[in-house]
Amino acid sequence: MIRLPIGLAALCLTMSAIAGEQFDDKFRQLDELLPTPTTIRTASGAPGHAYWQQRADYTIRASLDEARRAISGSETITYHNNSPDNLTYLWVQLDQNIYKPNSDARTTATIRSRDPWEKASPETGMKFDAMKSMLEARTFDGGFNIKSVKDSSGRPLHFVINRTMMRIDLPQALKSGAKLAFSIEWSYNINEQKVLGGRSGYEHFDEDKNDLFEIAQWYPRMAAYYDVTGWQHKQFLGTGEFTLEFGDYDVEVTVPSDHIVAGTGELQNAGEVLTSAQRQRLEQARTAKQPVVIATQAEAEAREKQHASGTKTWRFKARNVRDFAWASSRKFIWDAQGYKKDSTNVLAMSFYPKEGNPLWGKYSTAAVIHTINEYNKYSFDYPYPVAISVNGPVGGMEYPMICFNGPRPTKDKKTGEITYSKQAKYGLIGVVIHEVGHNYFPMIVNSDERQWTWMDEGLNSFLQYLAEQAWEEHYPMSRGEPRKIADYMKSQGQVPIMTNSESIAALGYNAYAKPTAAFIVLRETILGRELFDFAFREYAQRWKFKRPTPADFFRTMEDASGTDLDWFWRGWFYTTDHVDVSVDGITEYTVGTKNPETEKAWRKALHDQEPISVTDQHNQGTLPRLVDSRPELKDFYNEHDDFTVTNHDRNKYNEAMAGLEDWEKALLKEGKHMYLVDFSNLGGLVSPLVLEIQLASGKKYIERVPAEVWRYNPNKITKLIITDEPMVSLVQDPYWETADTDVSNNAWPRRVTPSRLELFKSKREQDDMMKDFNEKLKADKTEAQKAE
Ligand SMILES: [Zn+2]
Repeated sequence: MIRLPIGLAALCLTMSAIAGEQFDDKFRQLDELLPTPTTIRTASGAPGHAYWQQRADYTIRASLDEARRAISGSETITYHNNSPDNLTYLWVQLDQNIYKPNSDARTTATIRSRDPWEKASPETGMKFDAMKSMLEARTFDGGFNIKSVKDSSGRPLHFVINRTMMRIDLPQALKSGAKLAFSIEWSYNINEQKVLGGRSGYEHFDEDKNDLFEIAQWYPRMAAYYDVTGWQHKQFLGTGEFTLEFGDYDVEVTVPSDHIVAGTGELQNAGEVLTSAQRQRLEQARTAKQPVVIATQAEAEAREKQHASGTKTWRFKARNVRDFAWASSRKFIWDAQGYKKDSTNVLAMSFYPKEGNPLWGKYSTAAVIHTINEYNKYSFDYPYPVAISVNGPVGGMEYPMICFNGPRPTKDKKTGEITYSKQAKYGLIGVVIHEVGHNYFPMIVNSDERQWTWMDEGLNSFLQYLAEQAWEEHYPMSRGEPRKIADYMKSQGQVPIMTNSESIAALGYNAYAKPTAAFIVLRETILGRELFDFAFREYAQRWKFKRPTPADFFRTMEDASGTDLDWFWRGWFYTTDHVDVSVDGITEYTVGTKNPETEKAWRKALHDQEPISVTDQHNQGTLPRLVDSRPELKDFYNEHDDFTVTNHDRNKYNEAMAGLEDWEKALLKEGKHMYLVDFSNLGGLVSPLVLEIQLASGKKYIERVPAEVWRYNPNKITKLIITDEPMVSLVQDPYWETADTDVSNNAWPRRVTPSRLELFKSKREQDDMMKDFNEKLKADKTEAQKAE
């Protein structure tokens, strides 16, 4: 530290402006980026009085051909045109068409890196599965076969298929306020999920020769039409999920008679498809304190062995949902437990093959209920009658009331012993929370997923983080904590969060982890929990069963918290800047007392602290001085240095003091310590300052400074800190709460960064062809390898 005395009058702080450089105002308002408010979407972020949305009701009849692994079906869509516009054609989504060999999803795929191709080591080369998947994708046709599109009186309607979208031309325009019923017949082949990937598909179990089907995006679905995009018919390339309308569903699926089916909505014909024992257990489950097994493992194993001939039809109804998905297998074990609180009255259920146990029986349904209990606190009461978690090939995917989750225990191939890793356990709990959580965002707060991934994944991952916190202390969280996003935020090749779903690089970081960290910074550091939670809940309440856009979210958070957050959205959502605040230097000022005894002593002390010159060091004891041998040459000036107080000094002081008012004298005696602290913003993203100040007595305290401290200069600022006793250290962001990417420049005085260097022996075996040639041939081993 540098210590300088100053007179009180000289205390004047000015910010240095950088001449000639364009001023980058991080706090300029977002109006230039956000759409103009309307009576449909207001400036406060709420739906306006003219808000409208379309509606599509579905009646679907479909059957699963287990042997051919195919679905065929017919549907009647009743489309309600609530828009103010007359529509001359309708657009329908044909998502399965990404499984056509020539789909855009396939033809626009690029190779991210040549490394696995060129470096043929076992670590970097290509996996067998990846190769199989690439080859299979070239030939497998899982696209929709559209057999017919007809109006309500059975007359064919003209249609045109544009890759994953189908336009149906109407003989007359569908008038504003009118509705139209039409039907489609279709079929498609189901993809093997473990080979071709995807959000649905079948999984084959070689051990018992059974399949497990997870079926979604399986029927032609209405494209959304709304005030911001018109028809949302951006082609599906595989990443931007689904933009859908709400409606009521009446669905019948015909499957092999020994299958158990889980589906969106409530089962309508339990009497026809369940045994009386199963129906009884289901009734018990409603009020049970823990999951009740509806279809037991023993029953599932018995079904696995004897494939029944014949079929059964399961009927489900769901009200006010934006989609319908289902799962079917004779392998399913099924458990359930009711949960009631406030207006929530739900039956939580899990469906899983024996391969999921013991993990699934213990955790799945418990996690479903935990999710609803926690998410209700931050948004709204779960409104649907069921919430289902299914184990199958899909790692994690959400639909209304039902989701598909992957983690399972592992079975030792030789001993048959079943164990599960910590990763599998918390992976399962985490993915169930996440996918059940999607019921809130985007199944109910129905954002446009084809446009903005963060609006559902970001908000949902944030609530997942809160729900995981409430599961157990030190829950091993993969994302959320701001410190965990720091490496990504200083990485190369990022895109802003406000990037279209199909164009996002590093999706997991960009659309999940970064928005989650942003919301945690906003909740814990910027707004505080009370303001944040109120505003967030207000957003959920305003937009449940409606379709919000980013502007509606940004505006609601500001409107309900009473805080201008334009700088925050701009920095975190529209740029790839990161937080890196550096504490550059500190200068201490104490108030001069004017008393010559004090001031001259203070200056002498400073002088004495200066290092001794090397010349003086070398002369020490080696250079005889003349005045030492002839002391008569010494006089007054040999006795007094510049720091001697003279009577003249004293008189001047006394005169000056006599002229001061009492309050002025008091200020001189206060003895405050003042520090000018220089900060620079190296990352570009403006951040609040969280300053931990330690005083000489050991006392520590935190001073929180809002981000607006950067408004006059976003690059460099100087802050005055006044303390009662000397400050010995200052740390910016001591709890790592601001996502600061380089904490090594956060402390004054600088701290040494501890790290380790690992030493290892160099091991380089030389090729020894003679030795290899003479090695004994292991014939048995080769046979064994063949058998594996
Ligand atoms: Zn998700």
